[in-house]
Amino acid sequence: MGNHPHQSTRDGHDAKTPMAAPQAFDFRKHGHAMVEWIADYLDGIERHPVQSTVEPGWVRSQLPAAPPTEGESWDAVMADVDRIVLPGVTHWQSPNFFAYFPANSSGPSILGEFLSAGLGVQGMLWSTSPACTELETHVMDWLAGMLGLPAHFLSSSTGGGVIQDTASSATLCALIAARERATGFAGARDGLQSHGPRLVAYASTQAHSSIEKDIRIAGLGAANLRMVPVRADRSMDPAALRAMMAADAAAGHRPFFCVAAVGSTSTHAVDPVPEIAEACAAHGAWLHVDAAHLGIASLCPEFRAINAGMEQADSYCVNPHKWMLVNFDCDAFWVRDRAALVQALSVLPEYLRNAATDTGKVIDYRDWQVPLGRRFRALKLWFVIRHFGVSGLQSLVRRHVALAARLRDRLAADPRFELVDPTPWSLVCFRLRGDDAHNEALMARVNATGRAFLSHTKVDGRFVLRVSVGAPGVEERHIDALGDLLCA
Ligand code: PLP
Repeated sequence: MGNHPHQSTRDGHDAKTPMAAPQAFDFRKHGHAMVEWIADYLDGIERHPVQSTVEPGWVRSQLPAAPPTEGESWDAVMADVDRIVLPGVTHWQSPNFFAYFPANSSGPSILGEFLSAGLGVQGMLWSTSPACTELETHVMDWLAGMLGLPAHFLSSSTGGGVIQDTASSATLCALIAARERATGFAGARDGLQSHGPRLVAYASTQAHSSIEKDIRIAGLGAANLRMVPVRADRSMDPAALRAMMAADAAAGHRPFFCVAAVGSTSTHAVDPVPEIAEACAAHGAWLHVDAAHLGIASLCPEFRAINAGMEQADSYCVNPHKWMLVNFDCDAFWVRDRAALVQALSVLPEYLRNAATDTGKVIDYRDWQVPLGRRFRALKLWFVIRHFGVSGLQSLVRRHVALAARLRDRLAADPRFELVDPTPWSLVCFRLRGDDAHNEALMARVNATGRAFLSHTKVDGRFVLRVSVGAPGVEERHIDALGDLLCA
């Protein structure tokens, strides 16, 4: 890394020295300044309108058509961060951010990300950086314990955990392992066309869109994903699942994969995992549990009921990058049978062969994911867990849950509002009694103030507002201010 503060910015650009080193960069100085910039940004985050107000195309209109031929001063670059980038940023870490699900972050996590970039490690194989693999295996075992997950997900058992970029990728890996298990590991070799029974997958009508996307990517065909009806509380109807699986089996198809949601995206509905597991077992189908957001609640023993039936699950994923102060991206994914996953995804070319892999005693995480390369993401997860401790993370969840309850109570006491599918966690779904236009106008009015940002969904075809509490610094005053905006 260049560290030459007194070198001319023209160094390395002499036309007579075509092999000159790249322009020196005063990493120490600019790095310190960047930490100051980020700290100031986070300290003053409430000054910004939560949602960016730029028009489409504005950011690009501010950028030159061509890249610079000569390197520019770092001051000029940072000035453009302030002038061009910042206005185009929606402030996800703002305590007034209530949209979607959170993507909360923290100082230890940012530093973990920074250190990962500084080390610049490619952790595709154990041998390409043993610490990258072993820290990940160890922290994933910790996290499984912290969440109260069953022992079969531990690396000391037949299973194990791996950090994926997203829940979408985790589900894709589960799906591919399930496909291979169902075809006797011949699907990857021969393709699916030549195989007997049609493979059919199941998820509720409330399942995240990533499930269908994964089915498409895996070449299984969206027509082979059955959308199972839900009960009054929007959780999957297990009787309907059983009937659909039986009908498919009777038609000569092979029910092979089912996703149960623990905390649906729209309303936090929790599918009945024990009954779904029974239905899956009857057909030998792989059960994947998608707990992308709500799964983090099980850090707290009092919320562990959401883990019911997990001892039957073949795989499970949850996103510390949503609700555990680990910045995006960090999805935690566990499988019961790591051999199925590795057999489905492993291709070993000569140029990756090495003595450690040949012993069969090490984990090569490239075989647990779609890409080959991988960052040292375990650092940020490890830093967060060590800095906050289990009790600090439990307090965060409890605080968010209590704040959501505070808003829920306020809306429940106002006869103009109705709560929609109320749940006891950190998401509040509600609507004004009346038509959709009133609700759309309410959301637009609140978001236009720049003092809060919330998003919506549709439930039974009706427009529903969602307040998802999860920003790192959210306090009662932010919830009360939001309540004032909504009830004005
Ligand atoms: N599953 C559920 C239940 C979600 O709520 C989401 C995102 O909100 C996802 C999956 C997709 O998450 P990711 O962005 O990690 O792929």
